[in-house]
Amino acid sequence: SKKINILGVNFNHITMEQAIDIVIGFLNSKEKLHMIFTPNPEIVMIAQKEIKLQEILNHSDLVVPDGIGIVKAAKILKDPLTERVAGYDLVQNVFEKISKTNHTVYFLGGAKEVADQAAKNMQEKYPGLKIIGCHDGYFSKNEEMTIIQEINELKPDLLLVGLGAPRQEMWLYDNRKKLNAKACIGVGGSFDVMSG
Ligand code: UDP
Repeated sequence: SKKINILGVNFNHITMEQAIDIVIGFLNSKEKLHMIFTPNPEIVMIAQKEIKLQEILNHSDLVVPDGIGIVKAAKILKDPLTERVAGYDLVQNVFEKISKTNHTVYFLGGAKEVADQAAKNMQEKYPGLKIIGCHDGYFSKNEEMTIIQEINELKPDLLLVGLGAPRQEMWLYDNRKKLNAKACIGVGGSFDVMSG
């Protein structure tokens, strides 16, 4: 699709419906680990100085603008602006779609219990959604190997990684060849919102 360059980061110029279809296409694909990122303005600024981050974003498979900060503010203000937040909404819409399929999801990130609670809440919100595993985002290098092993045994179609940006982008990029999933999305602090 058409790309729009914002201060060095190429964003896909697509509608929400198209973005959902692209993600579902990745999940149905035979190829591994399509990377999806939803940078916010802060990350775009960091990417201007950190060329590795800019390259990761520009070599990923789908980049849509995020506004998780807006989701959080809207949550506090109970403002209908929530609808306009692309990154968080994209994940919610994908959950809705795949809850009617056999596609599976793994949550990695957030404080202890947060990913678990987020998974519980999402399975309640989207009956049929198959979240097959969770792990918090505070782990050592040793534990990391065990987590990757667990993910690879479970073979989730979709891996959501919420380690905060840009750590999750770096982490996914560095581990992309080891991870057995069809697609991954860097979700920032989304598990905190989902668990609330
Ligand atoms: N986080 C994590 N491991 C870390 C650091 C952060 O799992 O080592 C999680 C943290 O618990 C929170 C998210 O990453 O859920 C970061 O949220 P924030 O809103 O700060 O990130 P952003 O959405 O701006 O990327």
